[in-house]
This record gives sequence, structure tokens and C-alpha cells, in this order.
Amino acid sequence: MSKIIRLSPETLSAQALHHVDAMTGAVSPGIHPSSTFVRDENYQLINANHSYGRSENPGYVVAERVLAELEGGPSALLFSSGTAAAMAVVQALKPGDRIVAPKVMYWGLRNWMIRFCDKWGLTLDLFDAADPDAFANTVKKGMTKLAWIETPCNPSWDVIDIAAAADIAHRAGARLAVDSTVATPVLTQPIKLGADIVVHSATKYLNGHCDIVAGAVVTAEEDDFWQRVRDLRTDNGAILGSLEAFLLQRGMRTLFLRIRKACESALTLAKHFEGHAGVEAVIYPGLPGHPGHEVARRQMDGGFGGMLCIQVKGGAEGALSVVKRCKVFTRATSFGGVESLIEHRYTIEGENSPVPKNWIRVSIGIESVDDLIADLEQALG
Ligand code: PLP
Repeated sequence: MSKIIRLSPETLSAQALHHVDAMTGAVSPGIHPSSTFVRDENYQLINANHSYGRSENPGYVVAERVLAELEGGPSALLFSSGTAAAMAVVQALKPGDRIVAPKVMYWGLRNWMIRFCDKWGLTLDLFDAADPDAFANTVKKGMTKLAWIETPCNPSWDVIDIAAAADIAHRAGARLAVDSTVATPVLTQPIKLGADIVVHSATKYLNGHCDIVAGAVVTAEEDDFWQRVRDLRTDNGAILGSLEAFLLQRGMRTLFLRIRKACESALTLAKHFEGHAGVEAVIYPGLPGHPGHEVARRQMDGGFGGMLCIQVKGGAEGALSVVKRCKVFTRATSFGGVESLIEHRYTIEGENSPVPKNWIRVSIGIESVDDLIADLEQALG
């Protein structure tokens, strides 16, 4: 009898679960642009899973299965963007429900939640993720239906204890949704820590090449809530294009390599610039002085991520001139690609941003870390 080999997530991801197309033998999945699917002469669908392109696409199957496997859930859904994925989770609530979310999280989503909750009869309670007691004090027993957390929070990199948050949420009768875009399943698996829902902007690390906009949701259980999320994708038409689905599954094959390299370089760079003459502080959960370091060590396995902020001397002007002088880092928003990006976050978020004006946000890619350090050194002057 042959022995069953338990494969590591790294192998599952690299081989896309050993996918081989049953019809052609192709090791790379096909791209399916078809908007509609044929019925036989008895009016039965040839494939019961596919009738119309606004609900399902055969090209989603590989990426959804791989992501579900990596996150440890039974099912995953791709969406047209991370925002559309998050919107489906929030829209699955009912009028009168309450949500909690961090005050500092991905700003676009926070601002959307504030506007949406106000118009749709949901109450949004924001908490300070830097205060370890704030989450427990904000969740309201019997009233909060969805606790939304992001960890590490973009761009403060506050680290939220997922297991503790799940316990608090569940005791109050709420679901816990975790935006795990920054951590990725390589470093953290929220479902194993008790989360009910995991959300990704797949635009970032899952794809890894800055060439698609995509989102994903993974569930811990295929329950009614999950069915509502699934229906909302179809009803909102928030579907991913077939080419994007292909690029996403391709990007996920190198996820582990990219994340490991980014983590290693981010830590080297953070240590290098901590205490630098032109720098007030480096904000990175991998540094022992970071307030979330101990929790990060517990729930992030194999690294602290590729994202960090550098608080430079000289206020907004100082930060903008550092960004201006960079030659290796690319000046652009977003993160999670193979190329390192640099941005002045306050300018991106605008006047009401809680982000200090002298913060520079960097996304570390897979280049030589020596080149990245040299670039920032010359830019800091
Ligand atoms: N979640 C996080 C943590 C993000 O940083 C972003 C975008 O930057 C989103 C969600 C939204 O994703 P998308 O831009 O794919 O809609």
C-alpha cells in the first residue's frame, strides 16, 4: 500500500494542488472568457456548476481551492476587488446590526464602511487597535454581529490578537472577520485562530505582481451567512475577470518564496534604519520595540511581513523629499508586488488622515535588500 504524503502548504501552493486539466492534460489552468454555458436537448446544464458568467467561472476553481486550502477553510470566493469582497461581507448583515472595526485600517474601506453603515441602518463602532482593551470594550454583547479586524493594520501596523478577538466576538454572539491582506496565509491563518471569515485584497501579495485588482473571501463554515456572501457576489456582479483569475492563480504559485524574501528584507531594512540620524522611528512589528511584537511573534509564523513605515525627521516636507529622491523604490501606492514601492501615505489619504505627515510607507519586494537600503540611505541624505 502506498504511503499518504501530507504535503506542506508551500508545495500545495507551488503546484496549485497538483492541478492538471482533465480534458487536455495541461498543467496550467485555462482562461474561460465565456459569459454563458450550454444546456443539452433536455435543457440540463452540461456542467451543473456553470450557467452564467455573473455567478461562477471555471477559471476561478483553482485559485479558490488553493486559497481555501492555505487558509484552512472549506470554501473561498474570488471577487472583482478586495473592496468588493469586504462589501459582500458587510452587506450580508441585516439592518439594525452593529459592526466594530479599527479606527486605523485600510482607509478606503473604513471610509466606505462609515458612509455605508450610515445609509443602510447599520451601526459602526470604531476602536483603537493600539489599545489592547479597546476591542473588548467596543464589542456589545447580543448587538454586535460582525467584528472586523485587520492585522497588521494598514498603515499603523498595530497587531491585533486574533485568538483573543475571536473569543470576545463569539462570547458576544458576533462573527469575526479578519482582513489578512498584509499577513497572507503564509504567515497567519486566522481560521485556525478562531476567525469565521478571512478577507484579502488579492491585488496585493496573493497576486504579487501589481497586474490585477482582485479580492477574495474564505469562510470557516458553509452556513447561511456564507450563502448570502456568495449570492451578493452574483447580485452585485462583483466578479473577477477570467484573465485576472488566471493571473491570480499563477501569482499564488510563488507566494511562499515572495513572502519569505519580503519578510527577510523588511526586517533587515527596518533594523538598519532604526536609530538612523535622519529617522525618528521605524514602525515594523518585527522590531522588539514595536508594541505588537509579542503578539506578532505568536500569530505570525515565519516573519513579520513586508510592510513598514519610516517616520523621518523634517515633517511632511522631509518625508516628501525622501520619497522624491528615491531611484530604486517606485513611487506608487499599493503593496505586495515583486517591486518595492514607496509612498507618502498622508498625501494619498488626504486631509482627515490619521497617519502622521512625516511617515513614509514602504512595501518591500524581492530585489536585493542592499540596493533598497542604499537607495533609502542616499534619499535620506
Ligand atoms: N484591505 C487592505 C488591507 C488594503 O490595503 C486594501 C487596498 O489597499 C484593500 C483591502 C482593498 O483592496 P482593493 O484595492 O483590491 O479593492
